[in-house]
Amino acid sequence: MTTTAHTPPPTATTTAHSRKPLARLTIPIVVLALVLLPFVSPNLYWVHIAALAAVYWILVSGLNLVVGHAGQMAIGHVGLLAVGAYTGCATYTTLGWNPFLSLVAAMVVGTAAGLLIGLPSLRLKRFYFAMATLGFATIVPQLAVVWDGVTGGGLGIAAPLFDGPLGTETGFYWFVLALAAGATYVTWRIARTNDGRGLIAIRDAEVAAESSGVPIFRLKLYVFTLSGALAGLAGALYASLQSYVTPDAFVFDLSMMFFVAVLLGGPGRIAAPLVATVVLTLLPELAAPLAEWSAFLYAALLLAVVLALPNGLGGLVTSIKDRVGRRRVPPWAKGDLDRLGDVLGDRGTTDESARVLSVSGVEKAFGGVQALRGVDLEVAPGQIVGLIGPNGSGKTTLLNVVCGYYPIDEGTVRIDGTTVNDMRVQRRAALGLARCFQSPRVAGDLTVLENVMLGGYHGARTSFATSMTGIGGGGREARLRERAQAALDVVGLSAQSTFRAELLSHSQLRFLEIARALVAQPRLLLLDEPAAGLSVEEIASLGNLIESIAAQGVAVLLVEHHTDLVFDVCDSVTVLDLGGVLAAGRPDDIRRHEEVIHAYLGS
Ligand code: ADP
Ligand code: MG
Repeated sequence: MTTTAHTPPPTATTTAHSRKPLARLTIPIVVLALVLLPFVSPNLYWVHIAALAAVYWILVSGLNLVVGHAGQMAIGHVGLLAVGAYTGCATYTTLGWNPFLSLVAAMVVGTAAGLLIGLPSLRLKRFYFAMATLGFATIVPQLAVVWDGVTGGGLGIAAPLFDGPLGTETGFYWFVLALAAGATYVTWRIARTNDGRGLIAIRDAEVAAESSGVPIFRLKLYVFTLSGALAGLAGALYASLQSYVTPDAFVFDLSMMFFVAVLLGGPGRIAAPLVATVVLTLLPELAAPLAEWSAFLYAALLLAVVLALPNGLGGLVTSIKDRVGRRRVPPWAKGDLDRLGDVLGDRGTTDESARVLSVSGVEKAFGGVQALRGVDLEVAPGQIVGLIGPNGSGKTTLLNVVCGYYPIDEGTVRIDGTTVNDMRVQRRAALGLARCFQSPRVAGDLTVLENVMLGGYHGARTSFATSMTGIGGGGREARLRERAQAALDVVGLSAQSTFRAELLSHSQLRFLEIARALVAQPRLLLLDEPAAGLSVEEIASLGNLIESIAAQGVAVLLVEHHTDLVFDVCDSVTVLDLGGVLAAGRPDDIRRHEEVIHAYLGS
């Protein structure tokens, strides 16, 4: 299946989907058609409309990462468009700058505006964030009216005019087309790298993103700021295209159109929102009466998408393809444990007397519920410690406390001797902590392989500039991909690697989560009821897998209700009851422990 022996290592541009020759030609053909458009267009009006669509796309391409990929409800991008437009106009008309410099200025001010709005508002919850962006979109045109010394107020201001070839309708179209291609390239690069996977995970499985080390706030801020830069550039180009701007050009309808373009195209995609942008630009032009009704049209489309096409046109195409191609997810097959070394790498020698995890005197209350009362627990390298107890006894809470999801009230948590009480989840991940969740948390829209690669986010991290340009970072991406393939071999999911994760069965998702955790090359692995919902055969396999992982020197903390599995694989077992440690010791002693039998095991 892999061709690494004959070809250079797969870079970020090769995907698991092999492309048909015809599909390869799609992009060159579309680009050629767009370049030649002015020669076939019956008049310049359509060239003007095409340029408008390209300008809109420059904005939507950035917005697409914010809304479609990261799942943030940014509904006020017309505000950023206005900022760019007025910056372009003011620097050109009032300050007399060169038009190209005005474009750069618009981009710089757009970047600053993106940063300024993003910094306080991206920390807000979903609806408050939406309201903040809406507020911004409302304020900017009103500021433009009031600040007439710079903006020309209600009378408006002249836009940057280009001389020479760019001064013609056709020349300007080509210029905008080139910039739109650049914006597409940059956003496409980001979408298909480490950070792109991180963004989708923020949208679909935020806790999993966090525990894989994705810096959630920073990544959201990066893409929002980038979308500000692109919106600023689009604003100045929009002004040039109209040659004159007034505040009423920046109505909320336009913001809605941008947002609808992303949703109609489908979240997490690039080509489909592009097509949707073109369609939404053309619609009012094709049927003149629609122009009057544009707000109604966008609102109706928004409703239709939300109600009937939650994954947009892109999602519709994908599901039809899946059906027509009768792509069925193959059943789970036993994994190849010999590949474990390729995933975990050379771990050097481990000092068994050291403690990878040491929890002492940990207390945690949720309001009136005392979930943990003075819990002590230690896990050494290569050791498997079982954590059992009735439902609600605090097992998951303890894992959450170790990962850093909840701050503790009392006690200490140490990882490799470092006290991590106040350390954030992502930094603990960097210390070598990986976990699986009681109910699997995966990014359903990413493929199985991409989900596993997400686990290696931290190790394969590159700068955001690398994500945008694709310069450097290819080697890391390729190594991560190979390790992820090996992890899928280990858990027996290699035949499913190209399927979207949402198509997998519950037990497959459990193994997928283990593969994702392994790719992080953890020193400490936390498993929360991994056997729940698995068949007998799968549980047996899981037991072997856990033992092999520990044999590589990984410390394992296993929360589980299948006591057979626990007593079988664990070196030591801790029993929780009502948040306190009821008993701890060797499996044989715990099995016979009277209080444990009474409280949990039953006779
Ligand atoms: P277990 O995993 O052993 O079944 P949990 O750790 O999930 O138990 O829960 C222990 C107790 O803490 C339960 O009473 C539960 O209701 C409570 N609890 C857990 N998480 C929260 C939370 N986020 N907010 C409030 N109470 C919680
Ligand atoms: Mg639990």
